[in-house]
Amino acid sequence: MTAPRFAHLLRPELADLAAYVPHTGDHEIRLDGNEAPPLLSSNARAGVAHALAAGGLERYPDPRATELREAIAAHVGATPDEILVGTGSDEVIALLLTTLSQPRAGADAATILTPSPTFVMYRLSAAARGIRVLEVPLDERWDLDVAQMRAAIEAGQPNIVFLATPNNPTGNRMSEDRIRAVIEAAEGALVVLDEAYVAFAPASLAHLRHVYPNVAMLGTISKIGFAALRIGWLVGPVELIREVDKVRQPYNLPTPSQRAATFVLRELRAEIDHVVAHVVGERERLGRELGRLGFGVSPSDANFLWVETKRPAKDVFEGLAASKILVRSFHARGGRLANRLRITIGTREENNRLLEAIARWA
Ligand SMILES: *Cc1c(COP(=O)(O)O)cnc(C)c1O
Repeated sequence: MTAPRFAHLLRPELADLAAYVPHTGDHEIRLDGNEAPPLLSSNARAGVAHALAAGGLERYPDPRATELREAIAAHVGATPDEILVGTGSDEVIALLLTTLSQPRAGADAATILTPSPTFVMYRLSAAARGIRVLEVPLDERWDLDVAQMRAAIEAGQPNIVFLATPNNPTGNRMSEDRIRAVIEAAEGALVVLDEAYVAFAPASLAHLRHVYPNVAMLGTISKIGFAALRIGWLVGPVELIREVDKVRQPYNLPTPSQRAATFVLRELRAEIDHVVAHVVGERERLGRELGRLGFGVSPSDANFLWVETKRPAKDVFEGLAASKILVRSFHARGGRLANRLRITIGTREENNRLLEAIARWA
Protein backbone atom coordinates (compact mmCIF):
# COMPACT_ATOMS: atom_id res chain seq x y z
CA MET A 1 0.00 0.00 0.00
CA THR A 2 1.40 3.38 -0.94
CA ALA A 3 1.67 5.86 1.91
CA PRO A 4 -0.46 8.81 0.72
CA ARG A 5 2.09 11.25 2.11
CA PHE A 6 4.62 10.28 -0.57
CA ALA A 7 2.30 9.24 -3.38
CA HIS A 8 2.82 12.44 -5.37
CA LEU A 9 6.58 11.96 -5.23
CA LEU A 10 6.73 8.35 -6.39
CA ARG A 11 7.94 7.29 -9.80
CA PRO A 12 4.81 5.80 -11.43
CA GLU A 13 6.71 2.69 -12.63
CA LEU A 14 7.06 1.56 -9.01
CA ALA A 15 3.35 0.73 -8.90
CA ASP A 16 4.11 -2.31 -11.09
CA LEU A 17 7.18 -3.43 -9.12
CA ALA A 18 7.54 -5.41 -5.92
CA ALA A 19 10.59 -5.72 -3.68
CA TYR A 20 12.59 -8.81 -4.57
CA VAL A 21 11.84 -11.35 -1.86
CA PRO A 22 13.51 -14.71 -2.32
CA HIS A 23 11.31 -17.61 -1.35
CA THR A 24 11.04 -18.07 2.40
CA GLY A 25 10.21 -21.22 4.35
CA ASP A 26 12.23 -24.02 5.90
CA HIS A 27 13.66 -25.82 2.88
CA GLU A 28 16.33 -28.42 3.46
CA ILE A 29 17.53 -28.33 -0.12
CA ARG A 30 17.72 -25.11 -2.12
CA LEU A 31 18.09 -25.58 -5.85
CA ASP A 32 16.49 -22.25 -6.74
CA GLY A 33 19.30 -19.67 -6.89
CA ASN A 34 21.86 -21.03 -9.37
CA GLU A 35 24.50 -20.97 -6.65
CA ALA A 36 27.35 -23.50 -6.60
CA PRO A 37 27.23 -26.52 -4.29
CA PRO A 38 29.59 -26.15 -1.29
CA LEU A 39 32.48 -28.28 -2.55
CA LEU A 40 35.49 -26.06 -1.85
CA SER A 41 38.32 -27.76 0.05
CA SER A 42 38.99 -26.65 3.62
CA ASN A 43 42.35 -25.28 2.46
CA ALA A 44 40.68 -23.04 -0.08
CA ARG A 45 38.13 -21.93 2.50
CA ALA A 46 40.92 -21.04 4.92
CA GLY A 47 42.62 -18.99 2.20
CA VAL A 48 39.44 -17.03 1.51
CA ALA A 49 38.86 -16.51 5.24
CA HIS A 50 42.37 -15.15 5.59
CA ALA A 51 41.83 -12.73 2.71
CA LEU A 52 38.49 -11.63 4.18
CA ALA A 53 40.09 -10.78 7.49
CA ALA A 54 43.05 -8.83 6.09
CA GLY A 55 43.00 -5.03 5.91
CA GLY A 56 42.11 -2.44 8.51
CA LEU A 57 38.55 -1.76 9.61
CA GLU A 58 39.00 1.99 9.88
CA ARG A 59 40.04 2.74 6.31
CA TYR A 60 37.70 2.99 3.35
CA PRO A 61 38.24 0.34 0.68
CA ASP A 62 40.45 1.01 -2.37
CA PRO A 63 38.04 3.14 -4.44
CA ARG A 64 39.64 1.97 -7.68
CA ALA A 65 39.77 -1.73 -6.74
CA THR A 66 43.18 -1.78 -8.40
CA GLU A 67 44.30 -5.28 -7.45
CA LEU A 68 40.93 -6.83 -8.12
CA ARG A 69 40.66 -5.20 -11.55
CA GLU A 70 44.12 -6.53 -12.37
CA ALA A 71 43.08 -10.02 -11.29
CA ILE A 72 39.86 -9.83 -13.35
CA ALA A 73 41.77 -8.45 -16.34
CA ALA A 74 44.17 -11.40 -16.22
CA HIS A 75 41.21 -13.77 -15.81
CA VAL A 76 39.26 -12.50 -18.85
CA GLY A 77 42.13 -11.39 -21.10
CA ALA A 78 41.64 -7.63 -20.93
CA THR A 79 43.48 -4.63 -19.53
CA PRO A 80 42.52 -3.20 -16.10
CA ASP A 81 41.21 0.03 -17.67
CA GLU A 82 38.70 -2.07 -19.65
CA ILE A 83 37.19 -3.39 -16.38
CA LEU A 84 34.57 -1.90 -14.06
CA VAL A 85 33.65 -3.82 -10.91
CA GLY A 86 30.31 -3.75 -9.10
CA THR A 87 28.62 -5.37 -6.12
CA GLY A 88 27.54 -8.21 -8.34
CA SER A 89 26.71 -7.80 -12.02
CA ASP A 90 23.36 -6.58 -10.71
CA GLU A 91 25.02 -3.31 -9.75
CA VAL A 92 26.87 -3.11 -13.05
CA ILE A 93 23.57 -3.48 -14.91
CA ALA A 94 22.10 -0.65 -12.85
CA LEU A 95 25.15 1.56 -13.49
CA LEU A 96 24.94 0.93 -17.24
CA LEU A 97 21.26 1.85 -17.26
CA THR A 98 21.93 5.09 -15.40
CA THR A 99 24.86 5.98 -17.65
CA LEU A 100 23.28 5.27 -21.04
CA SER A 101 19.82 6.70 -20.46
CA GLN A 102 19.69 9.51 -23.00
CA PRO A 103 16.84 8.72 -25.46
CA ARG A 104 18.11 7.97 -28.98
CA ALA A 105 17.42 10.51 -31.71
CA GLY A 106 13.89 9.80 -32.89
CA ALA A 107 12.95 7.83 -29.75
CA ASP A 108 10.66 9.38 -27.15
CA ALA A 109 12.16 7.45 -24.22
CA ALA A 110 15.36 5.71 -23.19
CA THR A 111 14.77 2.06 -24.02
CA ILE A 112 16.29 -1.36 -23.52
CA LEU A 113 15.66 -4.50 -25.52
CA THR A 114 15.88 -8.05 -24.20
CA PRO A 115 14.75 -11.43 -25.41
CA SER A 116 12.14 -13.16 -23.26
CA PRO A 117 12.37 -15.08 -21.04
CA THR A 118 15.70 -13.91 -19.68
CA PHE A 119 17.35 -12.64 -16.51
CA VAL A 120 14.77 -10.43 -14.75
CA MET A 121 17.18 -7.79 -13.43
CA TYR A 122 17.52 -6.11 -16.83
CA ARG A 123 13.80 -5.42 -16.82
CA LEU A 124 13.41 -4.58 -13.12
CA SER A 125 16.42 -2.31 -12.99
CA ALA A 126 15.32 -0.47 -16.14
CA ALA A 127 11.74 -0.07 -14.93
CA ALA A 128 12.93 1.37 -11.61
CA ARG A 129 14.73 4.08 -13.58
CA GLY A 130 11.79 4.88 -15.85
CA ILE A 131 13.51 3.25 -18.82
CA ARG A 132 11.21 1.58 -21.33
CA VAL A 133 11.60 -2.18 -21.74
CA LEU A 134 11.00 -3.98 -25.04
CA GLU A 135 10.88 -7.77 -24.97
CA VAL A 136 11.04 -10.12 -27.94
CA PRO A 137 10.13 -13.77 -27.33
CA LEU A 138 12.85 -16.35 -27.93
CA ASP A 139 12.01 -18.83 -30.67
CA GLU A 140 10.70 -22.36 -30.05
CA ARG A 141 14.22 -23.59 -29.29
CA TRP A 142 14.84 -20.66 -26.90
CA ASP A 143 17.25 -19.11 -29.40
CA LEU A 144 17.19 -15.51 -30.68
CA ASP A 145 14.49 -14.59 -33.17
CA VAL A 146 16.64 -12.37 -35.34
CA ALA A 147 13.85 -11.00 -37.54
CA GLN A 148 11.82 -9.91 -34.51
CA MET A 149 14.88 -8.52 -32.75
CA ARG A 150 15.78 -6.51 -35.86
CA ALA A 151 12.24 -5.17 -36.10
CA ALA A 152 12.28 -4.17 -32.42
CA ILE A 153 15.64 -2.44 -32.82
CA GLU A 154 14.35 -0.55 -35.85
CA ALA A 155 11.08 0.50 -34.20
CA GLY A 156 12.24 0.97 -30.60
CA GLN A 157 15.74 2.49 -31.02
CA PRO A 158 17.07 0.86 -27.84
CA ASN A 159 19.99 2.29 -25.87
CA ILE A 160 21.08 -1.15 -24.67
CA VAL A 161 20.39 -4.70 -25.86
CA PHE A 162 20.96 -7.30 -23.12
CA LEU A 163 21.74 -10.86 -24.22
CA ALA A 164 22.53 -13.51 -21.61
CA THR A 165 24.37 -16.48 -23.06
CA PRO A 166 24.04 -19.10 -21.67
CA ASN A 167 20.62 -17.67 -20.93
CA ASN A 168 18.85 -17.69 -17.60
CA PRO A 169 16.34 -19.38 -17.16
CA THR A 170 16.53 -21.45 -20.38
CA GLY A 171 20.13 -22.69 -19.92
CA ASN A 172 21.08 -22.67 -23.61
CA ARG A 173 23.59 -20.53 -25.46
CA MET A 174 22.29 -18.27 -28.20
CA SER A 175 23.70 -19.11 -31.65
CA GLU A 176 26.74 -17.01 -32.41
CA ASP A 177 25.58 -16.12 -35.91
CA ARG A 178 22.30 -14.81 -34.50
CA ILE A 179 24.11 -12.83 -31.81
CA ARG A 180 26.31 -11.32 -34.51
CA ALA A 181 23.25 -10.41 -36.58
CA VAL A 182 21.68 -8.63 -33.59
CA ILE A 183 24.93 -6.79 -32.79
CA GLU A 184 25.17 -5.64 -36.41
CA ALA A 185 21.56 -4.48 -36.42
CA ALA A 186 22.06 -2.59 -33.15
CA GLU A 187 24.93 -0.44 -34.34
CA GLY A 188 23.79 2.67 -32.46
CA ALA A 189 23.22 0.79 -29.20
CA LEU A 190 25.41 -0.98 -26.66
CA VAL A 191 25.01 -4.75 -26.79
CA VAL A 192 25.77 -6.36 -23.43
CA LEU A 193 26.69 -10.05 -23.57
CA ASP A 194 26.09 -11.43 -20.09
CA GLU A 195 28.28 -14.49 -19.52
CA ALA A 196 27.33 -15.17 -15.89
CA TYR A 197 27.34 -18.93 -16.69
CA VAL A 198 30.30 -19.10 -19.07
CA ALA A 199 32.30 -21.37 -16.72
CA PHE A 200 29.78 -24.16 -17.38
CA ALA A 201 29.76 -23.67 -21.17
CA PRO A 202 32.20 -24.99 -23.79
CA ALA A 203 33.29 -21.52 -24.93
CA SER A 204 33.13 -17.78 -24.33
CA LEU A 205 32.07 -15.13 -26.83
CA ALA A 206 34.64 -12.67 -25.52
CA HIS A 207 36.23 -12.45 -28.98
CA LEU A 208 33.17 -10.51 -30.20
CA ARG A 209 34.31 -7.61 -28.03
CA HIS A 210 37.27 -7.20 -30.38
CA VAL A 211 35.18 -7.55 -33.52
CA TYR A 212 32.42 -5.05 -32.67
CA PRO A 213 32.97 -1.68 -30.96
CA ASN A 214 29.41 -1.67 -29.53
CA VAL A 215 29.85 -4.82 -27.39
CA ALA A 216 30.59 -5.16 -23.68
CA MET A 217 30.67 -8.30 -21.54
CA LEU A 218 29.35 -9.02 -18.05
CA GLY A 219 30.99 -11.53 -15.73
CA THR A 220 30.58 -12.64 -12.12
CA ILE A 221 31.97 -15.03 -9.53
CA SER A 222 28.52 -15.64 -8.04
CA LYS A 223 27.73 -18.81 -10.00
CA ILE A 224 31.11 -20.49 -9.48
CA GLY A 225 30.99 -20.55 -5.70
CA PHE A 226 31.33 -17.00 -4.37
CA ALA A 227 27.87 -15.42 -4.42
CA ALA A 228 28.39 -14.15 -0.87
CA LEU A 229 31.16 -11.78 -1.98
CA ARG A 230 28.94 -9.85 -4.45
CA ILE A 231 31.52 -9.27 -7.16
CA GLY A 232 30.61 -8.82 -10.82
CA TRP A 233 32.21 -6.87 -13.64
CA LEU A 234 31.89 -5.19 -16.99
CA VAL A 235 34.54 -5.60 -19.70
CA GLY A 236 34.22 -2.99 -22.38
CA PRO A 237 35.77 -0.18 -24.39
CA VAL A 238 37.81 2.20 -22.22
CA GLU A 239 35.68 5.20 -23.21
CA LEU A 240 32.54 3.42 -21.95
CA ILE A 241 34.18 2.22 -18.72
CA ARG A 242 35.35 5.76 -18.01
CA GLU A 243 31.78 7.12 -18.23
CA VAL A 244 30.18 4.34 -16.18
CA ASP A 245 32.87 4.88 -13.55
CA LYS A 246 31.52 8.41 -13.00
CA VAL A 247 28.20 6.94 -11.88
CA ARG A 248 29.71 4.31 -9.56
CA GLN A 249 29.90 5.10 -5.85
CA PRO A 250 33.60 5.38 -4.96
CA TYR A 251 33.44 2.80 -2.15
CA ASN A 252 31.00 0.34 -3.67
CA LEU A 253 33.22 -2.70 -2.97
CA PRO A 254 34.00 -3.57 0.65
CA THR A 255 37.64 -4.37 1.39
CA PRO A 256 36.92 -8.01 2.39
CA SER A 257 35.13 -8.64 -0.92
CA GLN A 258 37.91 -7.03 -2.95
CA ARG A 259 40.62 -9.04 -1.21
CA ALA A 260 38.77 -12.33 -1.18
CA ALA A 261 37.76 -12.07 -4.84
CA THR A 262 41.33 -11.21 -5.81
CA PHE A 263 42.52 -14.31 -3.95
CA VAL A 264 39.83 -16.44 -5.57
CA LEU A 265 40.74 -15.37 -9.10
CA ARG A 266 44.49 -15.63 -8.56
CA GLU A 267 44.81 -18.75 -6.45
CA LEU A 268 41.72 -20.96 -6.75
CA ARG A 269 41.56 -21.75 -10.47
CA ALA A 270 42.04 -25.49 -9.92
CA GLU A 271 39.46 -25.58 -7.11
CA ILE A 272 36.92 -23.76 -9.25
CA ASP A 273 37.58 -26.10 -12.17
CA HIS A 274 36.88 -29.00 -9.83
CA VAL A 275 33.53 -27.55 -8.70
CA VAL A 276 32.58 -26.76 -12.31
CA ALA A 277 33.46 -30.30 -13.42
CA HIS A 278 31.23 -31.70 -10.67
CA VAL A 279 28.34 -29.45 -11.70
CA VAL A 280 28.70 -30.30 -15.39
CA GLY A 281 28.87 -34.04 -14.64
CA GLU A 282 25.84 -33.89 -12.37
CA ARG A 283 23.99 -31.71 -14.87
CA GLU A 284 24.34 -34.44 -17.49
CA ARG A 285 23.34 -37.20 -15.05
CA LEU A 286 20.37 -35.29 -13.62
CA GLY A 287 19.23 -34.38 -17.13
CA ARG A 288 19.33 -38.03 -18.22
CA GLU A 289 17.48 -39.22 -15.09
CA LEU A 290 14.79 -36.56 -15.41
CA GLY A 291 14.39 -37.50 -19.06
CA ARG A 292 14.00 -41.13 -18.06
CA LEU A 293 11.24 -40.10 -15.65
CA GLY A 294 9.40 -38.43 -18.54
CA PHE A 295 10.32 -34.78 -18.05
CA GLY A 296 11.41 -32.65 -21.00
CA VAL A 297 14.93 -31.37 -20.42
CA SER A 298 16.43 -28.66 -22.63
CA PRO A 299 20.15 -28.82 -23.47
CA SER A 300 21.95 -26.78 -20.80
CA ASP A 301 25.33 -25.04 -20.86
CA ALA A 302 24.72 -23.54 -17.42
CA ASN A 303 24.57 -24.80 -13.81
CA PHE A 304 20.86 -25.51 -13.91
CA LEU A 305 18.29 -27.40 -15.97
CA TRP A 306 15.25 -26.00 -17.75
CA VAL A 307 12.67 -28.68 -17.21
CA GLU A 308 9.30 -29.18 -18.85
CA THR A 309 6.64 -30.77 -16.67
CA LYS A 310 3.59 -32.62 -17.94
CA ARG A 311 1.53 -31.49 -14.99
CA PRO A 312 1.29 -27.77 -14.24
CA ALA A 313 4.67 -26.62 -12.90
CA LYS A 314 2.85 -25.12 -9.93
CA ASP A 315 1.82 -28.60 -8.74
CA VAL A 316 5.31 -30.01 -9.11
CA PHE A 317 6.84 -26.95 -7.45
CA GLU A 318 4.48 -27.25 -4.49
CA GLY A 319 4.99 -31.01 -4.27
CA LEU A 320 8.75 -30.50 -4.06
CA ALA A 321 8.30 -27.73 -1.50
CA ALA A 322 6.30 -30.16 0.63
CA SER A 323 9.40 -32.39 0.51
CA LYS A 324 11.40 -29.34 1.65
CA ILE A 325 13.08 -28.92 -1.73
CA LEU A 326 13.02 -25.48 -3.30
CA VAL A 327 13.34 -25.01 -7.07
CA ARG A 328 12.35 -22.07 -9.25
CA SER A 329 8.99 -22.10 -10.97
CA PHE A 330 7.82 -19.77 -13.69
CA HIS A 331 4.18 -20.79 -13.66
CA ALA A 332 3.04 -17.32 -12.61
CA ARG A 333 4.26 -16.01 -15.98
CA GLY A 334 1.80 -18.31 -17.77
CA GLY A 335 1.96 -19.16 -21.49
CA ARG A 336 4.79 -21.48 -22.44
CA LEU A 337 6.37 -20.96 -19.00
CA ALA A 338 3.36 -22.47 -17.18
CA ASN A 339 4.96 -25.92 -17.25
CA ARG A 340 8.59 -25.02 -16.74
CA LEU A 341 10.87 -25.35 -13.73
CA ARG A 342 14.45 -24.17 -13.35
CA ILE A 343 16.45 -26.55 -11.21
CA THR A 344 19.95 -25.64 -9.99
CA ILE A 345 22.50 -28.47 -9.93
CA GLY A 346 23.37 -29.33 -6.33
CA THR A 347 25.56 -31.89 -4.61
CA ARG A 348 25.14 -35.50 -5.65
CA GLU A 349 23.06 -36.17 -2.52
CA GLU A 350 20.84 -33.14 -3.13
CA ASN A 351 20.29 -34.16 -6.74
CA ASN A 352 19.37 -37.70 -5.63
CA ARG A 353 16.89 -36.34 -3.11
CA LEU A 354 15.39 -34.19 -5.86
CA LEU A 355 15.06 -37.20 -8.19
CA GLU A 356 13.39 -39.23 -5.47
CA ALA A 357 10.91 -36.47 -4.67
CA ILE A 358 10.14 -35.42 -8.25
CA ALA A 359 9.51 -38.99 -9.46
CA ARG A 360 6.03 -38.83 -7.95
CA TRP A 361 5.19 -35.89 -10.22
CA ALA A 362 6.33 -37.33 -13.53
C1 LIG B 1 22.70 -14.67 -11.63
C2 LIG B 1 22.86 -13.80 -12.82
C3 LIG B 1 23.51 -12.57 -12.73
C4 LIG B 1 23.77 -11.94 -11.39
O1 LIG B 1 25.02 -11.96 -11.03
P1 LIG B 1 25.55 -11.23 -9.72
O2 LIG B 1 26.96 -10.99 -10.11
O3 LIG B 1 25.37 -12.18 -8.60
O4 LIG B 1 24.78 -9.94 -9.50
C5 LIG B 1 23.74 -11.84 -13.89
N1 LIG B 1 23.30 -12.29 -15.07
C6 LIG B 1 22.63 -13.44 -15.19
C7 LIG B 1 22.15 -13.89 -16.52
C8 LIG B 1 22.38 -14.23 -14.06
O5 LIG B 1 21.66 -15.35 -14.16
